[in-house]
Amino acid sequence: MNATLKRCWNTEKPLCIKYHDEEWGVPLHDDKKLFEFLILDCFQAGLSWWIILEKRSALREAFDNFNPEKIAKYSPNDVNRLMNAPGVIKNKAKILSAVTNAQQFFKIQKEFGSFNAFIWQFVKGKTIDNGFKSLSDIPAESEESRAMSRELKKRGFKFVGPTICYSFMQAAGLVNDHLVDCFRYEQIRKSGVNWLNPVIQPRKSMNEN
Ligand SMILES: [Zn+2]
Repeated sequence: MNATLKRCWNTEKPLCIKYHDEEWGVPLHDDKKLFEFLILDCFQAGLSWWIILEKRSALREAFDNFNPEKIAKYSPNDVNRLMNAPGVIKNKAKILSAVTNAQQFFKIQKEFGSFNAFIWQFVKGKTIDNGFKSLSDIPAESEESRAMSRELKKRGFKFVGPTICYSFMQAAGLVNDHLVDCFRYEQIRKSGVNWLNPVIQPRKSMNEN
């Protein structure tokens, strides 16, 4: 972690800096990671992202490593357990939404072949390079996030309003919303690959291999 680099987030919190430098905005094509990001964004609704980042490891532990197979099968007992688990946001509607969203996730995989194919259709397979100069240029939602929200809601997903979908699109690199003077902006812009084009480096190959 290099503290002298120019970043678009004004933060000194190491967890925030690490997330900004390594994850936020990197085009993500792994179904399970996309699911994790969506669940985290659903939990964020109405809260600051910082709270979610701080609670992320507790959430991961409580939610079986964000494994959609396991979450889809959660019983009312599991929901009660989660309501009392340390570090979990005690919001029953959000916890139940994780279960519903996991169940719908598998329906989308079946219908589209992958969750990745479903999610990336909204930007035609390629990161939208916004090239914003100032934080005030960044919108809360976009035409694409409204379309994603509509389709997710139609399929029974919860906590997927256009603003949550836009946050998700930023985090998963469907849009490059690093400001142009941030050191990550060019790095991500140059790595831009069209997912519909077979030449692609999924993020999981960096982390898992
Ligand atoms: Zn940045």
